[in-house]
Parts: sequence; C-alpha cells; structure tokens
Amino acid sequence: MTTNNSISLFERAQQSIPGGVNSPVRAFKSVGGTPVFMERAKGAYLYDADGNRYIDYIASWGPMILGHAYEPVVRAIQQKAEGSTSFGAPTLLEIEMAELIRSMTKNVDLIRMVSSGTEACMSALRLARGYTGRNKFIKFEGCYHGHADAFLVKAGSGLATFDIQTVPGITGGVSNDTLTCAYNDLNAVQALVAANKNEIAAIILEPVAGNMGCILPEPGFVEGLRRICDEEKIVLIFDEVMTGFRLSAGGAQETLHIDADLVCYGKVIGAGMPVGAFGGKKEIMSHIAPLGSVYQAGTLSGNPLAMIAGYTLLKTLKDNPAIYQELSDKTAYLHAGLQKVLEAHGKPFVINRKGSMISIHFSDKPVTDFATAAAADNAYFNRFFHAMLSRGIYLPPSAFESWFLNNALTYADLDETIHAAEESLKAL
Ligand code: PMP
Repeated sequence: MTTNNSISLFERAQQSIPGGVNSPVRAFKSVGGTPVFMERAKGAYLYDADGNRYIDYIASWGPMILGHAYEPVVRAIQQKAEGSTSFGAPTLLEIEMAELIRSMTKNVDLIRMVSSGTEACMSALRLARGYTGRNKFIKFEGCYHGHADAFLVKAGSGLATFDIQTVPGITGGVSNDTLTCAYNDLNAVQALVAANKNEIAAIILEPVAGNMGCILPEPGFVEGLRRICDEEKIVLIFDEVMTGFRLSAGGAQETLHIDADLVCYGKVIGAGMPVGAFGGKKEIMSHIAPLGSVYQAGTLSGNPLAMIAGYTLLKTLKDNPAIYQELSDKTAYLHAGLQKVLEAHGKPFVINRKGSMISIHFSDKPVTDFATAAAADNAYFNRFFHAMLSRGIYLPPSAFESWFLNNALTYADLDETIHAAEESLKAL
C-alpha cells in the first residue's frame, strides 16, 4: 500500500494548518507516521487520497452509525440545501427534531440544539451552576467533555494521547472549580462531596467512557452517583455525546436504567453534520434564556442541513430498533474473533465492550479507569495500529479512544479485520 499523496498533503497542510490538522488526534502524533488523508467514504469503507480502501472503525468518531454517505441522509441534505442553508429564525424542522429526540429518550422535557458536543457540555455545566447557584463540579479522570476551559483538567481523548496534564491558557480560577476523581471510584466521589458540602453544582460523566478506550461503569457506580446527587441536590449530567443513540435508541439512560438530570448529545444526532444538544428536566431547563437568565445561544444552532441530516438518521434508528441488536451482535462477533487471535498470540490484553463500542488495551490487569488504561502497553497498541492500517483496517490512532462499529459492516468485513489482527500480531 502506498500513501505518497497523503505524505505530500500532510507536508502541505502543515504550512497553513497547525500540525496539519483541525483536531489534534488526527495528526497521528502519538502513533507516529503520517496521517491518512481521506477523499471519500461509502458504507463501512474509507478511501484515501492514494485510492486505498480501509474498513472503518472510527465512524467519524461515532456519527456514522449506519455507515458513510447513507443514502437517505445524503438525499435529505441535498433537498434541504435548495431551500437555503441557514435562516437565523425558527423553523418547523427544529420542532420535529426536538419532538423526535424527546420521543426516544427519557428525562428530556426540553432540549436545546447547539453545534458541537463541546457546546452541549459547556452549556449544560453553565446551566447546572446557574440552577444550583454553586460553582464547583466533579468530572472523572480520562473522561472528555469537549474543550471548554472547565473540562480540560485530567481529560481523556487527545489530552490523554498527548499526555497534556494542564493546559496553558486556562486560569487557576477556572480549573480550581473542577474537582476530579478516578472513574468507578464512588468512595472518592463521596469524600469530595463531603469535603465540599453545598458547593458542588454538578457531577458530569460519560456513562460508558469512550475517551480512554472503552471503559465500562462497574455495577453500582452510576447508581451511587445518582443517589449522591439526589441526597446533595447536585445535578447529574450524563455526557451522552458518544453513547446517545448508539448504545440504544434511548442511550445510556435506557441501557443502564438510570435517570440523568441533564443529558448532552452529539455525534449520531447530526449524522456527521456539526450538531450537539443538551436537554433535561423542565425545572432545570427553564432557567435557559429566553425562559431564564442562564444565557446560551448560537447563530447556526438548529441549522436546517444539520437538522434534516440528524432527523433522517434518528428516525431510521427509531423505526428500526433491530439495528441495535445487529450492531451489538457484530461487535460481539468481532470481540470473540479478536479474543481468539490475541489469546493465541500470548500478549496480555483486555477487551472492553458495550453495545457497539469496543477497544483493546494491552494490559494484564482489568482496565477500569484512566490509571489502568495509562498503565497498559500503549506503545504496543501504537505498533498494532500501524500494522492494522497497512492491512486496510482503520482503527482510532490512540489506545485512549473507543472504536465505533457501523451497521454497514458485514460479517465478511469483520472476518477480514480479525484475519488482519492475526497477521498484524504475527508481524509485531
Ligand atoms: N463529550 C464526549 C463524550 C466526547 O466524546 C466528545 C468528542 N469526542 C465531546 C464531548 C466533544 O464533542 P465535540 O468534539 O463535538 O465538540
């Protein structure tokens, strides 16, 4: 496989874009080598600037749950564009989108559209602070909630990949209000809450974490957070930017059977267009402007192209609930196949999986939080990544990211992936 065009595009990109990319993990900095520049994608396959085909396990980091260039979404966007790409005024489609999301999820009485997951989490936190009149909040090490200042403390995803502990430019005043605990450590949460009595506005978490690889909540963890939040009048925020409409139509709330006070969405709800949303109980959401004085706004919020893309995808998911079983079955099949070749190879590993989220950590211990994810042999993962890439399998370029399956993947694709893993491990 040659990637000469990608190599020269990367050279050129670096002349005018910081690091040659518009989002850091794309730069392959931690795995090394040159990022692959994509030209187009269809179904489960990505095609790069040199014409190479890859089986895609990123799905644009989640949104492409039914595969790339899903025909109904493409057609809907084309048709909608004829009627203008933005109005800056309300539309019927925004009501339909809000109603559709409400019909699929719990605890979403009111929902506000934004343009990214970052904005969704940032706004939900501001709302929780405005609602409670408290400043501090708890997040978990290795969870990523976008790049708003308050969240860039012990964060996952690119910050974990590049080992960025503190971010220059974020003032102590901001980060001092961000309290952190290890994921799955309920005792630590309890201790923090006790030490900051009546000062904590919110606890935010990825109910299934995807930004330190895939990490599952242990039984009782999220239930315990719910109980603490009820007792202490803390707003429980589920960041469902990854899990929303992916783990199930009702997201992690439905899959884990736990209610959130506020929920953040992104990824799938935009079908690949720039969309996020935050919603929740009326009592809290009615503090958002113009109902209340917690200000939040967006020129392109509820953008018609983004709305029609997301609406079309979500409606398909709502009308075809079997999709979730199919995705889960495919992911279980991949899990079993990878498990077999990894066991035969002998290098210690952990595979974590929930629904269509899965990842491998090369670890001899269970991976349950950021510390155990970081202690794995991630240099080995980086070599595994390149061995897979050269065999046409596009995994996330970091052990600190979940893989996302899309339903365009066939069992033949999964077999090809498992075979590539076997060959890759032999070659390492
Ligand atoms: N929350 C979670 C759980 C995420 O995974 C991400 C992005 N990967 C975000 C928030 C931020 O979303 P965005 O990149 O759209 O701003």
